[in-house]
Amino acid sequence: MADEATLVLIKPDAIARGLTGAVLTRLDQLGLRVVGAKALRVSRRLATEHYQALRGRPFFEGLVTHLTGQLHGVDYVLAFVYAGPDAIAKVRQAAGATDPEQADPASLRGAFGRNTAGVMENILHASSDAREAEREIALWFRPDELLSPQQAAKRATTQPAGVPCCRA
Ligand code: UDP
Ligand code: MG
Repeated sequence: MADEATLVLIKPDAIARGLTGAVLTRLDQLGLRVVGAKALRVSRRLATEHYQALRGRPFFEGLVTHLTGQLHGVDYVLAFVYAGPDAIAKVRQAAGATDPEQADPASLRGAFGRNTAGVMENILHASSDAREAEREIALWFRPDELLSPQQAAKRATTQPAGVPCCRA
């Protein structure tokens, strides 16, 4: 299994509906490492660049309005980079099919997504292949915002010292 990195965006519909925790809990179960995480405002320019391959599609304007948060009155998204063996396919499978009505009910999109006003409110974005992941991670994160896989693994296995909740 290839060691990969993939971009996840928790979209404004999920943020507006208080589903951030549900998404992260599900992704936690995949056994991957988080090597990047941040909250950020999404400009029209960034949304357009992110979805550049879909320019010209009838739903494109709705897509940009969605990702910028205008549709849901939300002014940020949460962006993550997950890394590990087969990360791209694992996250895509947890996300489910693009259309929430076609998605496996056990997937995030199947469980929580919905179709409204011509836009698929499908909770999260997940890179679909290695080329897309590389492009998208470079678009959303500067190199110095990402942990190296080694750093992330070390943090995941190191016991926090002196943290009150973890003392015996
Ligand atoms: N989308 C939509 N209507 C469609 C197809 C796509 O609203 O008929 C939106 C949906 O939010 C989707 C995004 O456009 O997540 C990007 O489409 P893509 O085909 O790349 O799907 P994804 O990779 O997100 O599953
Ligand atoms: Mg896609």
